[in-house]
Amino acid sequence: MHLLSVDDLSPADIDTLFRLSDGFLEVASRPIKKVPTLRGRTQINMFFEASTRTLTSFELAGKRLSADVVNIKASGSSVSKGESLKDTILTLESYRPDIIVMRHHQVGACRMAARYTTARVVNAGDGAGEHPTQCLLDLYSLRRTYGRLEGLKVAIVGDVLRSRVARSNVFGFRKMGIDVRLVGPPTLIPPGIEHWGVPVYHDLEALDEVDVVYVLRMQLERAKGKVPPVPSLREYSRLWGLSPRRLRPDQRVMHPGPINRGVEITGDLADSDRSLILHQVESGLAVRMAILYHVLAPHPQAA
Ligand code: ASP
Repeated sequence: MHLLSVDDLSPADIDTLFRLSDGFLEVASRPIKKVPTLRGRTQINMFFEASTRTLTSFELAGKRLSADVVNIKASGSSVSKGESLKDTILTLESYRPDIIVMRHHQVGACRMAARYTTARVVNAGDGAGEHPTQCLLDLYSLRRTYGRLEGLKVAIVGDVLRSRVARSNVFGFRKMGIDVRLVGPPTLIPPGIEHWGVPVYHDLEALDEVDVVYVLRMQLERAKGKVPPVPSLREYSRLWGLSPRRLRPDQRVMHPGPINRGVEITGDLADSDRSLILHQVESGLAVRMAILYHVLAPHPQAA
């Protein structure tokens, strides 16, 4: 199977992934952090957009599973000479990879790539489209923290308009029984939001009833050449920025990273013991090991 959207997974699939992740989390605590699970398999990480956490964790995940891992970045590849996505994928296909993990600035690019390869394609973020593996690691981080997902209340706050994380998380969180709400200024809420099936609030008071506040990054790089949806970052941070004062002591805060300290979240909240940000990163490695295993597992190849 490919993993292009959270829609590709049922709640039972997600539970299976989390059971696998528990095992891989244990591997990360060993002195030798490597298992032979994907020995002989080839994983290509193709990143056409910047990444720290996603690329590092997918690379480490493949290596800890003993796969042969190759990273390609657009800036150092023939994409920078104008090679098309189709030709890039067809070229890589000649090497018979088993998995292509792909990040691209265009919505739907990973789905298109999947048409030109026999490898399993994992969407590591497509423009403002989806980021299913972020959703899965966030769910896993929540499950590790609260011991359950069903019935948790989460508010996703901020730049929903340009966030692929918001889209994947709304659909994935609801699938697992989480009560989700969106909070932000009207200019950062996308048109058609009524089809997402979650309530939208334009006031931080909507955070009062939730267990977890999930803060989104202001996606400045997607604003180029467009009228900015907020008048200034200073004003945004004054009205919508999250600080310890805005939250109850028992509420936890999450963020997909990278954070803009002092814009959508203050440094002292991000660094506090109410923050799950680094717990999310740790969870991400185990979950991505589980994903690599899972996308290949039902389709064993002949030796
Ligand atoms: N790292 C996440 C992403 O790639 C979130 C972000 O960049 O704000 O979408």
